[in-house]
Amino acid sequence: MTPLGSTSVLPSAAVGSPDARLVIVGGGQAAGAALKTLRQLDYMGSIVLVSDEAFAPYERPPLSKEYLWGMGQDLRAVAPDERSNEQLRLDRRVVSGDVASRTLFCSDGSTLSYSALLLATGGVPRRLRVPGAELGGVHALRSAGDALSLRRSIERCRQERRTLLIVGGSWIGLEVAAGAQAAGLDVTLVEQGGRLCSRTLPIAAADWLRRFHVSRGVDVRLGCSVLRLDGDADVRSAQLSDGSALPVGAVVVGIGIDPSTSLAEQMGLQVRSGIVVDRNCRTSVPEIFAAGDVAEHVCPWHRVPVRIETWDNANRQGAIAARQIAGSGAALQLVKPVQALGDDLQGPLEGASDRSCTAPPWFWSDQYGVNLQVIGAPLCGDTVLAGAGGNATVDSPLFIYLRGDAVIGAVGINRPREMRRLRKLLAERSDLQRDALIAEGFDVAHAEPALCS
Ligand code: NAP
Repeated sequence: MTPLGSTSVLPSAAVGSPDARLVIVGGGQAAGAALKTLRQLDYMGSIVLVSDEAFAPYERPPLSKEYLWGMGQDLRAVAPDERSNEQLRLDRRVVSGDVASRTLFCSDGSTLSYSALLLATGGVPRRLRVPGAELGGVHALRSAGDALSLRRSIERCRQERRTLLIVGGSWIGLEVAAGAQAAGLDVTLVEQGGRLCSRTLPIAAADWLRRFHVSRGVDVRLGCSVLRLDGDADVRSAQLSDGSALPVGAVVVGIGIDPSTSLAEQMGLQVRSGIVVDRNCRTSVPEIFAAGDVAEHVCPWHRVPVRIETWDNANRQGAIAARQIAGSGAALQLVKPVQALGDDLQGPLEGASDRSCTAPPWFWSDQYGVNLQVIGAPLCGDTVLAGAGGNATVDSPLFIYLRGDAVIGAVGINRPREMRRLRKLLAERSDLQRDALIAEGFDVAHAEPALCS
């Protein structure tokens, strides 16, 4: 296996030249961002994008928000207006590939050769492994097709005045819960863990979110899971681990995704929690790149190899890979050294120990008209400045997380202005200290231990 970071093996055709062929596997945000960036760079080679969906890459954040509820009917393309050097091959999959001959084999029997390959294969929703999980009315939510069929089930649920059961207390579950509650449905949400969003939110923020949903009428049950689902063709009831039997009209399963790594594994790429990439999104095979939910990289904010499943990361990594493929060196927006993370920032991969870093990870969610934003790696904090920001109220808290004296992350609820400023500050100064926050006008007087696990 070629070591990560090696740049010694070049494709047989220079990737920016007209006879180069880039194949992008996957039709999600990272794939779309790569296409968009290649256009901006006037990439000359031919581009073939293979996706198992029926559409060119489209924006997914609306799927659990306005699109699900029938507002904003149209899918928004990530990279509208196909160019003459681009070819979309939809409704098919790349089933295997051969690294030595740089050939891919597709589900429709066709083969594709490449000089550079971008794997943006994303992930598939985890299935509920209980009896009855295959009944009608049990839905995952990842694609536009999923959203449309969930919309129909929810409508039936509403007409029949039945409860919508949501399994999984994270971003899919909470966004659907908020929309359903606002649409007048009875909603029960079960989360097997002890708090909501435990993979992304420390305890104080997660607890705020739980109280918020409960105050809106959602029946939130923590430490609870589904034991079985019953019905005829369609789901009718759920047996829960707290001993209750719940009559239900539809079930939404939001229990995470499994990254789609099988093609990478079959091709012999290094794969751990995802396809292992360096800071330039290059895999263990130099002419193959990976980006988005499927890619594992060492994140200086989290300090360990992670897959970051966000829209922002897919955009960023798609663009980074595209710049590398187009031959531009400007792959990363480098900022100042991460002194805050100290000398112990060690990772097994190239790029982890040079203490440079990119802008912080970021994502947002909209629930009941409230905007939540998460910056950086709040779960890596040891101290929380609760109520920081001057006018923190119970309705719109701002939690800033420190590691030592440096800001490592933040969670803001209806605090878009402060979060925008923090994001900008952290992108400019990844060693942002508590004192500097005071100089920037943040009220950071109240510090307490951050309870993250
Ligand atoms: P997620 O964020 O990975 O969270 C899944 C949650 O389900 C975890 O809390 C998990 O608990 C829980 N869970 C797992 N198995 C369960 C079970 N059998 N019963 C009850 N709870 C269970 O996944 P998601 O909410 O499904 O989201 C999927 C993807 O879409 C993620 O990549 C997410 O970031 C993305 N998304 C993002 C947004 C946004 O950024 N606004 C919105 C929607 C979706 P444990 O941790 O204990 O396993």
